[in-house]
Amino acid sequence: MSRGREAATPGNEPTLSLERRARLTTGSGLWSTHAEPLLDLPSLRMSDGPNGVRGSTYDERLSAWCTPCGTALASSWDESLVGEVGGLLAAEATKMAVDVLLGPMINLPRSPLGGRGFECYSEDPILSGRVAAAWVGGLQGVGVAAAPKHFLANDCETSRTTVDCVIDERALRELYLVPFECVVQAGAWAMMAAYNRVNGVHATEHRGLIRELLKEEWGWDGVIVSDWFAAHDTVRCALAGLDLEMPAGQVLGASLVEAVRRGSVPESELDDKVERLRRLAGRVRRGGRLATAPDELQRPLPNGVDRDPGHTDAVALLTRAAAAGFVLLKNDEGVLPLVLKQGAGHLAVIGANAVDPCIQGGGSSSVNLGAVRTPLSVIRECFGGIIPVDYEKGCSPRSTFRPLETLEVQATDRGAAAGLTITYIPTGVSRAEAASEVRCSSSLSWFDGIPTFPSGSTGEVRMTAWLTPRRSGAHHFSVRGSGPSRLAVDGVEVATLGALSDPFDMFAPFYCDDVGVGTLHLSAGRPVLIEGVMRHEAIGVPIFEVGCREPDLPDLLERAVTLAATAQTVVLVIGTSSDVEAESRDRTTTALPGGQDTLVEAVLDANRRTVVVVNAGSAVDLPWVDKAAAVLYAWFPGHGFADALAAVLAGDLEPGGRLPLTLATFPEHYPAYSTLPDADGRRYYGESVFIGHRHFDAAGIEPLFAFGHGLGYTSFDYTGLVLSTDTLSAGQTLSVRTTVSNIGGRGGKAVPQLYVSPAPSGVPRPPRELKGFRAVHLDDSESAEVSFELGPRAFAHWDPERHCWRVAPGEYGIHIGASSRDIRQLALVRVEGYDVTGNPPVIQT
Ligand code: BGC
Repeated sequence: MSRGREAATPGNEPTLSLERRARLTTGSGLWSTHAEPLLDLPSLRMSDGPNGVRGSTYDERLSAWCTPCGTALASSWDESLVGEVGGLLAAEATKMAVDVLLGPMINLPRSPLGGRGFECYSEDPILSGRVAAAWVGGLQGVGVAAAPKHFLANDCETSRTTVDCVIDERALRELYLVPFECVVQAGAWAMMAAYNRVNGVHATEHRGLIRELLKEEWGWDGVIVSDWFAAHDTVRCALAGLDLEMPAGQVLGASLVEAVRRGSVPESELDDKVERLRRLAGRVRRGGRLATAPDELQRPLPNGVDRDPGHTDAVALLTRAAAAGFVLLKNDEGVLPLVLKQGAGHLAVIGANAVDPCIQGGGSSSVNLGAVRTPLSVIRECFGGIIPVDYEKGCSPRSTFRPLETLEVQATDRGAAAGLTITYIPTGVSRAEAASEVRCSSSLSWFDGIPTFPSGSTGEVRMTAWLTPRRSGAHHFSVRGSGPSRLAVDGVEVATLGALSDPFDMFAPFYCDDVGVGTLHLSAGRPVLIEGVMRHEAIGVPIFEVGCREPDLPDLLERAVTLAATAQTVVLVIGTSSDVEAESRDRTTTALPGGQDTLVEAVLDANRRTVVVVNAGSAVDLPWVDKAAAVLYAWFPGHGFADALAAVLAGDLEPGGRLPLTLATFPEHYPAYSTLPDADGRRYYGESVFIGHRHFDAAGIEPLFAFGHGLGYTSFDYTGLVLSTDTLSAGQTLSVRTTVSNIGGRGGKAVPQLYVSPAPSGVPRPPRELKGFRAVHLDDSESAEVSFELGPRAFAHWDPERHCWRVAPGEYGIHIGASSRDIRQLALVRVEGYDVTGNPPVIQT
C-alpha cells in the first residue's frame, strides 16, 4: 500500500500516484473515461447501442442507422448476417469516434412482458449466445469494443435498480450465464454489470459472479463497467472486481484512494483495473481507431438516406437483415408472395403502423432515425403501378402524444422554416439578446448542456412554432421538462407540469411518465401559436418535450372494413410502439394495444385474404390467427422495415425468420408471466430451468407457434442423419451430419435445428434443449450436408450439490428439426456418465 508517495504502475512505465490511477476507475463525464498521458492511455468514448450508435448527444439533426432489434436479429438465426450488422455498427461508431458500444443485451426474457424484451435476442441461451458472439465479432473485428449487458438477470424493468432476483444455481448455469459465457469465449473486450441484485447481492458488487466466475473461472481479461449509476459501495464494488464506474461518480475514483489507504481494498485490485483499462484501449487502438481526431469525426451528419457515401450498402444490408428476421407464421393457400391482378380491385393497406411504423423500441437503445420510409409509401411505390393502393388507419392504438414535427409546424423566425424555434435564455440574459435556433423536433434533450448556458447556470428554454391543424376538433396537448414547464396556445395556457428532475437520478425525467396535459378546440387550416417554456434548474440531464394528439377522422373502423371488403388483398399492419415496449417499464399485458384486435377481427371478417403484419418487438397475443390467410411477424426491424416488407410481399426477398421465442395461445400458458417482485423486493425464478420452449415441452402445452418455427417461401427435406459413434465416452465430441434438400421450387433459407433430449435420470430436465443450428441458403433442388459438433456441455446439466457440470449416463436423443416441435429426424447415442472437468466451450465449432 502506498501513502503519500508515487506508486509504481504495472510494468516498467513512469510512476503514477494512487490518485491518478484511481481516477481512471470512474468516468470523466456521461460517456467517456479519463485519459492518462503518463500511461499513454486515451479517453475512451462510449455510446449506447445495441440497435444503432446513439452517440453522446441526442439531437434529431444527427441521425444514425437503426438495425433490426435484438429479437429481429436473432430471428435470422444467421450468424454471418449478424456479423455483417456488427460491422455496419462498427463503421458507424468509427464515424462518431465511439470506442465502446454498449451492447448487445443478452439477458433471457423469461417473461414476455419485460419492457426491453425487444432488445434481448431469445428465450434460448444458445441462440442468444451465438447471435451475440457473431455481433461482438463483427464489431470488434473493426476495432470497436462491445460491452454485452447486463451481467446478470436484468430481464425485466420493474424495480430494476432494487429488485433481488432469486435464481437457483442450475438456472444460473444452464440458462442465464450461458450467453455471457459465449461472448467471453468470443473474446468480448468489455461487459456491463446490471442494476439489480442477484441472490441478495447487487450485480456490481457480486464477487461470486464477477471476480470468481467471470474473471477467475472463465479467465476473462476484459473491463467490466457498471450500468449507469449502478455502483453503490466503494469497497464492495472494488473487491467484487468492478473495473469502471460509469458515469463520473462518487463510488470508485477518489473514494477508492481512501479505501486503498485504509487497507480495505488491496492496491493490487486497483492495478488490475488499470491494467484492464489499458488492455481495452490497446485493443481499440490496434483496430486503428484512436488515431483519428474526434472533432473531425463528430461533425453533424445530415439526416436522410444520403447521409454518407456508404449509404447504399447500408440500406441494402438493413433491408436484407430486416427481411431475414421476418417470420412467416402462416401462409394459407400461398397468399404470399402477392400475385395481384390488374383491374380486379385494389390493394388495401390498413393499420396505424403502416404510416407510423415502429422502427425501434423505447429507451437508451433508441437512435435518432432521421428520414424513415413508411410501409404504405413503399408498398405504393412497389405495387401502385399494377393496382390502386388505398389506405385506412382503422384505429388509433397510440394513447401517447406525438411530437409536434409529426404535424404541420413552422418556426416563428428564420423565414418560417418547417420546424420549431428554440430560444436559450440563461439567467441574466434578456430575451432579445438570447440565442435561438430552428430545431426539427419538439422532443429535446441536452446531454452536453443547454446551448449558451454556462455550466451550472439556470434560465429558460422557450419553444415557439406556428401549428396549422389538419382537422377541426379537440387537440390534446402535452408538456414536460426536467424543470417546471408550461405550454400556451394562442396565448391561452393549456398545460403545466412541475420539475421532473431528481438530484439523485440524472436520468429521472427520461423514465418518468408524468406529463402536463390540456385540450383545445382548433379549426382546420387556421394556424395557432405554440409557446412552450421550460425553466432550467441545473439538475440532471435537461429535457423539454411538447406533444399533441390531433383529432382522428370519424368512423375509423367502419371505413377500414369497407375498404377491406372490396379489396383484392389486404395488408394489415398492426403492432405496438416505442411507448408500449420501452426501457424502465414492463408491459402489463401481451394483448395488442388500442383496440387493434377488434380491428383485425373486423377486417378478417370482411376479407379473409388478409396478410397480417405484426410490428412488435416481443410476443403479442394473436387471438384471431385462425382466420388470417397469412401472418408475418416483423418485430422492430430498423431502417430497412418498409423496403424489406415491400420486397417480401412482392416475393423479391424471402421472409427468412424463425421464432426466437415461443408464442402462446393464451397468456396464462407463458411461464413467469408476472414481473412484479414480492413485498420484500424479491423476484423468484421459481420455474428454474423451465423457461420458453423448455417450459412448453415439459408441461406438455401446445404453443400457438413453436420456438424455431418459420415458413419462408420454400420447403426442405431432411435425410441421412449420421452420428460419428453410437457410444460416447467421457470427454469425447460427437459429430452429427444430416442432409438438407430444398424441395420447395425456389431458392431459400433452411435452418436445421439440433435438439438433445436427456437420458432418463433423477434430475428434472427439459425434454429437448437446442444445442446447434445452421442457416443454410439453398437454390431450388439443391442439397447440402450440414454437420454439428457436440462437446460435453451439449449433454451436461449443472449439479448444484457438487457445483460442477455432470453428464448423466444413458441414452440421449439427437433430434433434427425445422422447429422445436417439428422434429424430422432422431438418432440415439449412449453416453458414459462423468463429471465435466476444466471449462469446455459451450458451443463446439
Ligand atoms: C441502461 C443501459 C444503458 C445505460 C446508458 C441504462 O439505463 O440500462 O443499458 O447502456 O443506461 O445509457
